[in-house]
Formats: sequence, C-alpha cells, structure tokens
Amino acid sequence: AAVIVAIDGPSGTGKSSTSKAVATQLGLSYLDTGAQYRAITWWMVNNGIDIDDPSAIAAVAGKAEIVSGTDPSAPSITVDGTDVAGPIRTQEVTSKVSAVSAVPEVRTRITELQRSIAAGAENGIVVEGRDIGTTVLPDADLKIFLTASSEARAARRNGELKGADVNATREALLKRDAADSSRKTSPLAKADDAVEVDTSDLTLQQVIECVVTLVEE
Ligand code: C5P
Repeated sequence: AAVIVAIDGPSGTGKSSTSKAVATQLGLSYLDTGAQYRAITWWMVNNGIDIDDPSAIAAVAGKAEIVSGTDPSAPSITVDGTDVAGPIRTQEVTSKVSAVSAVPEVRTRITELQRSIAAGAENGIVVEGRDIGTTVLPDADLKIFLTASSEARAARRNGELKGADVNATREALLKRDAADSSRKTSPLAKADDAVEVDTSDLTLQQVIECVVTLVEE
C-alpha cells in the first residue's frame, strides 16, 4: 500500500532537506506544505491584500490557483501558472506568511489541497509542514517531529542566507515559530503518536538514515 509519512517541526530543523532525501531514496512523492502557504501569501501581497486584516484575507482565500509538483528531485510550485519558487522565499513573504496561515479559511483551503495531493500519490508520499500529523493526515503511517535548539536552527538558516546576522535570523525564526505555535487553528504541534527526533547534534545524513529506518520498520 502507499506509505504516507508526515514530517513536522519548527523552522530550521532540516525538515525540507530530510523530507526530499527520504522521498528520493524510497521512491515516494514529496509535498512541501510551507511552500503552499508561502505561495498564497505571495499572491496576497501581489494583489495588495491588507495582511493585517484577517477578514480581507478570508474573502479571497480561494482565489489563487496553487499547483505543487511532487517530484522530490525537482519540486515546483506555481500560482495561476506562474513559477513562484524564487519569489516565495523573499524576506517579505517570510515575514508575512504566519499571519496569512493563521486565517481559518486559508487553512481549510490549503488542507483540502494537501489531502487531495496525498490521496493521489500512488507510490506514497512524504509531506512536510507544521500540522500534517495532527490535522492534515492524522492517519499517516509514520509521523516524525523534528526539533533542534534555536542556536542550531538559526545557524543552519544563516548558512542558507549568505551574509545575514545570526542573531537577527534567530529572532525572526523564534518570532515565526511563536506565531505558528499559538494560532487557534491547527498550530505547529507534535502529534501524540509522532516520533520526536532532536537534530541539534546530528548531521543531515544521520537524520535521513534515522527516518528511512523508521519508514522501513
Ligand atoms: O516550512 P516553511 O518555513 O516554508 O513554512 C512557512 C510558513 O508556512 C510557516 O512559518 C507557517 O506559518 C506556515 N505553515 C503552516 N502549516 C504548514 C506548513 C507551513 O502554517 N503545514
């Protein structure tokens, strides 16, 4: 049967790198749900929607057509046919995505999309995010919750952002995680039946091996 793996956790724990590598090794599809929330946020910014007004966001939550490519060796994301893989990683989108993702109408819409993609993945899928094990796919075959110290997370994120100040990176990360953890609708949370893996002192290769072993068990 098609295996479904849910990988959740805060930013900078190695979720994306791990999820892509595990999916590639096991021949599974891959879905980056953070990219979907970033894509809808990009659309809101591009269309002049007031991010501080949840009712304005809710009113247009269904407008953007978001399409995710699920090949782990070449993940892609488009909004209304436009490739937004680059633009969704800007600091502007990153700073606004938590507010947009907190709007229940946005979550309902994106959650439906995620469930339909998972149901259509015939070989199985690795889905990474914040609420996959708790809300999106509560019947997943394996749930992983990745954690790491805030220092390790900031250092990793800083390695990706050339020349950024590590303290500023850490502050921004903690702020986003606090917002994601405290929202009312499906916050960032570990499912009761998730396996927690602290990646602070592990190499990416070690984390990948650990998850692959858990899938194969
Ligand atoms: O994973 P990434 O850092 O790209 O996610 C961006 C943002 O999308 C998160 O900070 C969070 O606000 C939102 N998100 C979410 N639920 C998910 C995945 C991401 O709310 N399942």
